[in-house]
Amino acid sequence: MPRCEVLVAGGGPAGVTAAVAAARHGAKTQLIESSGMLGGIWTNGLLPHFIDYQHRGLLRELRRELLLNDAHTSEWRSDIASVADFDPEILKFVLEKMCAEAGVSVQLYSRVSSAHRSSDGSRLETVVTESKSGAQAWQAHTFIDATGDGDVGASAGCAFDIGHPETGQCQPMSMMALLSGYGTPQTPPFSISDWGESKDWLLEEIRRGGHDPSYSRPTMFLVHDGCVIMMANHQYGYSGPDAALIGQATTEGRAEILRIVRALRSLGGRWKNLRLQATSPHIGIRESRRIHGLYRLRKDDLMRGRRFHDGVCTVRFCFDVHALDPHSNKGIDGVEGEVKPYQIPLRSLIARDVSGLMMAGRCISGDFYAHSSYRVTGDAAAIGEAAGITAAHAVSTGQYPHQVNFTEIEDKLPNSVKPEKQDDEG
Ligand SMILES: Cc1cc2nc3c(=O)[nH]c(=O)nc-3n(C[C@H](O)[C@H](O)[C@H](O)COP(=O)(O)OP(=O)(O)OC[C@H]3O[C@@H](n4cnc5c(N)ncnc54)[C@H](O)[C@@H]3O)c2cc1C
Repeated sequence: MPRCEVLVAGGGPAGVTAAVAAARHGAKTQLIESSGMLGGIWTNGLLPHFIDYQHRGLLRELRRELLLNDAHTSEWRSDIASVADFDPEILKFVLEKMCAEAGVSVQLYSRVSSAHRSSDGSRLETVVTESKSGAQAWQAHTFIDATGDGDVGASAGCAFDIGHPETGQCQPMSMMALLSGYGTPQTPPFSISDWGESKDWLLEEIRRGGHDPSYSRPTMFLVHDGCVIMMANHQYGYSGPDAALIGQATTEGRAEILRIVRALRSLGGRWKNLRLQATSPHIGIRESRRIHGLYRLRKDDLMRGRRFHDGVCTVRFCFDVHALDPHSNKGIDGVEGEVKPYQIPLRSLIARDVSGLMMAGRCISGDFYAHSSYRVTGDAAAIGEAAGITAAHAVSTGQYPHQVNFTEIEDKLPNSVKPEKQDDEG
């Protein structure tokens, strides 16, 4: 049975950064990814748009590499958070290079299908993957669940939450599309400096072409001149961990994209050369399981701008709950808009119900509303980096993550800004 020190499940923004950080801090690290590429939503989801881009650590290195490869398309700072756009295809190579240089062993096309505890039930001991090689068992000292859906934690029997606290309903999924034949920085929506107004403009254009899109805030990101990425649909009522429903949402989303492209092309003029080049290999899943950790971030923490003695990064992005059905809009239950910059405590990355398991990215421990803010990729990557560093430290000191004293690692965490005043001493 292959054995490593840190095993990271899922190679999205959180998983890649976790694996690179763990390997750089001395741990023999295995990264398992179910698709044929690294990057998660950035590449497989065709959404290379970093919100709350943190200007430190691995994200800064990533940006530098993308600049060197002429793949960095834009960067700007809004009132809420820093944002950066990249070419998704080049990002795949850059992430592979980062992993190779750090010494991470990567296995693609392999899905973690189950997780198993030690005989006394206290510790996560093994995960099993399914792939062309059949079922393979992997042992590690510390596992990091970066699957976005919390697949490892759920299979290991950890408690989790999913969806709205009363109904369990999840935010809609969106299928992204790569289009050619349209767009320069001088054309709308890119020339419209107000983000909201650019979406209104695009919505009216799609409607003018005869289609009313399921997402009322359609967006385009400029990759290169004449090449754009579009997000214009919402698939309502589906749930991340349900294969049948994801498939249905994918088919519906793809069909709507074609209708939108045809509607825009029918307008002629600036739209006449618009072509659909690709739909994203995987539909974008905004939310799924949130595995219970030693601390569960709450809406109230964000409203207060809470800082913690074990804060691993600072989040600036707003509450961003997408409508749960076609008739409502953003801002559910009166929770909407800006947050006070708040910290993610390390405890939210450490599983409560089993030793040897951490979470990184959107499956960390938080409530429905808090998740809508910290899920963005700038934060997911910073969280991943912190998880990797903690896991490597746990390995080297023979502890489990929950036993690590934060003061032993805080100087190694690039995104951990020591707060002048800590609200939390727990
Ligand atoms: C439509 C949409 C638009 C968004 N817009 C933005 C935006 O503009 N900017 C922004 O910063 N964020 C945006 N977000 C939020 C952000 O994309 C996610 O929250 C982010 O992907 C979190 O990163 P992650 O690494 O936790 O998860 P993911 O990116 O989902 O990565 C998870 C990885 O794990 C792999 N995986 C899953 N299950 C398994 C398994 N069992 N075994 C092995 N591998 C597995 C997946 O293939 C994937 O590579 C958007 C999300 C969606 C869905």
